[in-house]
Amino acid sequence: MPGKKTEKMLTRRRFIKDTAAGVAGAGALTFMGLNTREVKASLPPTKWDSESDVIVVGSGPAGLPAAVAAAEKGASVLILEKNNEIGGNGVINGGILSIGGGTHIQKTKGIEDSADLMFKEYSDYRNRENKRNDPKVLRAFCDHNLSTFNWLEKHGVKFQDNLLGFPGMKGTPRYHLVSWDKDSPGWLYRYGPGPSSGAGLIKPLETVARKKGVKILLKHAMTKIIREGLMAGRVLGVEVKEDQKRTLYFKARKGVILGSGGWKGNRWLRTLFDPRMTEDLVASGEPFITADGTGIIAGLETGAVLASDRAIDWHLFHRMFGTRYYRFPTGSPYAAPGLGQTGQPSMKEVANLIIVNKFGLRYINEATPEKPSLFYDASLAQEDHILWAIFDEAAVKRNGWDPRPPAVEEDLALSAPTIAELAKLIRVPGDALRETVRKYNTFVERGEDSDFGKPKTHLQYKIDRPPFHAVWMSIQVHDTSGGLATNAKSQVLDIYGNVIPGLYAAGEAAGGLDKIGMTRGIVMGRIAGENAA
Ligand SMILES: Cc1cc2nc3c(=O)[nH]c(=O)nc-3n(C[C@H](O)[C@H](O)[C@H](O)COP(=O)(O)OP(=O)(O)OC[C@H]3O[C@@H](n4cnc5c(N)ncnc54)[C@H](O)[C@@H]3O)c2cc1C
Repeated sequence: MPGKKTEKMLTRRRFIKDTAAGVAGAGALTFMGLNTREVKASLPPTKWDSESDVIVVGSGPAGLPAAVAAAEKGASVLILEKNNEIGGNGVINGGILSIGGGTHIQKTKGIEDSADLMFKEYSDYRNRENKRNDPKVLRAFCDHNLSTFNWLEKHGVKFQDNLLGFPGMKGTPRYHLVSWDKDSPGWLYRYGPGPSSGAGLIKPLETVARKKGVKILLKHAMTKIIREGLMAGRVLGVEVKEDQKRTLYFKARKGVILGSGGWKGNRWLRTLFDPRMTEDLVASGEPFITADGTGIIAGLETGAVLASDRAIDWHLFHRMFGTRYYRFPTGSPYAAPGLGQTGQPSMKEVANLIIVNKFGLRYINEATPEKPSLFYDASLAQEDHILWAIFDEAAVKRNGWDPRPPAVEEDLALSAPTIAELAKLIRVPGDALRETVRKYNTFVERGEDSDFGKPKTHLQYKIDRPPFHAVWMSIQVHDTSGGLATNAKSQVLDIYGNVIPGLYAAGEAAGGLDKIGMTRGIVMGRIAGENAA
């Protein structure tokens, strides 16, 4: 029920809408900072270039399920994708899907799970990530997990029959692995007995979508959401830039669904979330895809509000060695894998290196597995974010590393016969770097790191066998979770908590559900599609 304040606002909106529609009162709108041209641009076009029931923005793990679900309900569906490939971050990722509720794979492994158990675990106050979950959205998410898993299988998504576990994992095991053994743009991982990738989700869903008549337009970026009035009334459609050239207007008779991803690649927006996410930090997934937050911005412009950022969790950042980007395989057009195929040395591997800043000084225990946020806090506090991993040839041999292009990016790995020469190459003070390495070697001899407390288990190898190597370490923004406020039906809400009629959001475009990764998009995208249709 709208309260007095809401009513007042609605009246104001009606005024705005009425005056704007007639444009006679456009001058009056300058009080809102809008000129006549801007008012006209925000109003419905006089002619639409195409019409469909549902328009989905983005073809990633949120967009594709939304489109398929809407098509299954009989809607005509159009997907707009700004990239030149389908799949968003979903097609280049590892395909680890945290989904459950009692899947047949969980059952085979003797794991008990249910929607209620999931809800209980994801509401447990002892996990601080849970504090940002909207209970109603979370309930819908949990209630639709199992049916969505079955729905994915029905649509040709294949899962490995093992579940991923890792040391220290808490709660019910739910990490299913999406099978995929073919190439995809980024094809990143191999887990378990067979290869897995998010492409194993995207490609089958794309096939189903096309079979069901979903139209997909690549290189079509949604630039604006169009409502009946200025921030008022039903969502009617979208403005689109075709291949960065032509402006088109597409009408959506039933609804627009934002599956347009997050804002981790938007250098300005993300600093609102965490000011340390400065210009120089690459977002994982780039350069294949940039999560520029344009869907979220369009939503805000049309009257939506933001919900939930997670400010604390370790998934915010990743570190990569020898590449600015994420770990793309050798030969990928997007980047290099960095040190080893993983690009992100395991804790065992960090026993083989030290990390220094632009002054040639260590600043942290390099092995900080249990407190990774401390690692990132310390790394992001280093001047200019200049960070180098230093190791010797013996480490290269022990780990099978390849610190040369194309395994690492050009200029991000350098080698020299002495530490002093290496220091010159990476432009850090030679005396300081020599002293850092000398001191570290004495720590290894003594079995005690009296500067930063690197544990004895990780303090095994001196850095003393030439040639010496320096590999650039980049910190990447991996996950931001602020997005548009939505309800349990994936409908977008305005500042008063009212539904914006005809507008939906799911996945990283939506906030309120602090679950990283694809499942949030798949489940809430499917819900959006069903409701929009
Ligand atoms: C390297 C990497 C590894 C990962 N590994 C995993 C993993 O193993 N398991 C897991 O669950 N998650 C993983 N993730 C996270 C997961 O990929 C994302 O959470 C998920 O892809 C988000 O889905 P989405 O559909 O919300 O957004 P995205 O996947 O970002 O898709 C959004 C799509 O919308 C398009 N778009 C954006 N704006 C517009 C616009 N204005 N007009 C038209 N189109 C637009 C984009 O081009 C993009 O295709 C990983 C991510 C990365 C980068």
